[in-house]
Amino acid sequence: MTTSVLVLGAGFGGLELSTRLSEELGADVDVTLIDQADAFVFGFSKLDVMFGKREPDAVRLRYEDITTPHVRFRQESITSIDPEARRVATDLETYEADVLVVALGADYDLAATPGLAEAGNEFYTVAGAEVLRDRIPSFQIGTAIVGVCGAPFKCPPAPSEAALLLDEHLRGRGVRDDVRIQVVIPFGTPIPPSPDTSAAILETFAERGIEFVPDHLVASLDAATNEAVLDDGTRLPYDLFLGIPVHRAPAVVEASGMTDGGWIPVDPGTLATRSPGVYAVGDVTSVGTPKAGMFAEGAARVVADRLIARIHGASEPPGYDGKGACYIEFGGDEVARVDVDFFSTPGRPTGTFVAPSMATAAEKAAFASTRRARWFGG
Ligand SMILES: Cc1cc2nc3c(=O)[nH]c(=O)nc-3n(C[C@H](O)[C@H](O)[C@H](O)COP(=O)(O)OP(=O)(O)OC[C@H]3O[C@@H](n4cnc5c(N)ncnc54)[C@H](O)[C@@H]3O)c2cc1C
Repeated sequence: MTTSVLVLGAGFGGLELSTRLSEELGADVDVTLIDQADAFVFGFSKLDVMFGKREPDAVRLRYEDITTPHVRFRQESITSIDPEARRVATDLETYEADVLVVALGADYDLAATPGLAEAGNEFYTVAGAEVLRDRIPSFQIGTAIVGVCGAPFKCPPAPSEAALLLDEHLRGRGVRDDVRIQVVIPFGTPIPPSPDTSAAILETFAERGIEFVPDHLVASLDAATNEAVLDDGTRLPYDLFLGIPVHRAPAVVEASGMTDGGWIPVDPGTLATRSPGVYAVGDVTSVGTPKAGMFAEGAARVVADRLIARIHGASEPPGYDGKGACYIEFGGDEVARVDVDFFSTPGRPTGTFVAPSMATAAEKAAFASTRRARWFGG
């Protein structure tokens, strides 16, 4: 008997899940993968676009290229999810399946930060990164703030990476001395689970004259005065604001009743939701790991392995271990890595730092190209 699996969202989680089910189950599975977009973009590619290193078209991996057997991709917008019935409506169709996996990621709520849309910029979307790509080359004097507007947010190293890459870009143009760079982050250190990683980032910030403003969020931007207003009322004048917007679950997920505290609660070992036969993976959950692609992928693998074992009548595979890694761009074509373990010591995540190098930059490039080949067959 063929098991039907409906995967909502073709990002890191949905692509990995669909590919693994196809590889391991062949014709025993029938996967429908739905996404409203026509292409997938790695989160880190937005930094490349922002600094003009790659064209937006070159970082788009088109879903029409998916050739994975037994996986049917549908470009449709999901308009409602009924988890109890495992029924999903889109702008074009209604679907029901034996297994439903929600992998719809996190959306951005620019309006939650007054002034951000009018008087600031964000680099968390390709469109936002493109606007900055056109703006940054003419920025040569004043203050640039990289500011986090809400937590949790995707890829905790990204604000630090943006500051380091901006520093490098301005040095390359010979205007760094005329620019002040500040980074506003809601944590006490850049990467709280890894003191070594945080120390390396702070040391590099100090060497390059980047100011670190810890334990604060940007609450609003005052368009009249060009000031970022922090959560304690402190006002920081700026000329260029690179924002990380407030994140929230997609509206269709909120309307489904699946969320609690803004995100979908799941069993951390199995990624099962409260509804039988319904799983959730990646940024849309509150599983307790960071909102990052490698973690979404790891969670998706666990769900896939459980379904494979069930269909093969095999014993239950190991649960989700909450381990993952994040690459960190340091500039100078060097990339560092932090390997993080969120579950081994409950409530106390730990991280190991791998210092920046060209070798790790090559590893990051290989990470992207293997996913591209596996998920898109090219
Ligand atoms: C600047 C930046 C840098 C980053 N760097 C890294 C990094 O170095 N390493 C790393 O691991 N992670 C990084 N990330 C984070 C990473 O991109 C995300 O955490 C990851 O994509 C989450 O995977 P996901 O499967 O949960 O969701 P996503 O990959 O976001 O996929 C969700 C999908 O759901 C679709 N969707 C949403 N709503 C609907 C709807 N109503 N109907 C149909 N489709 C819908 C979306 O179109 C999207 O394709 C970075 C992110 C950013 C912004």
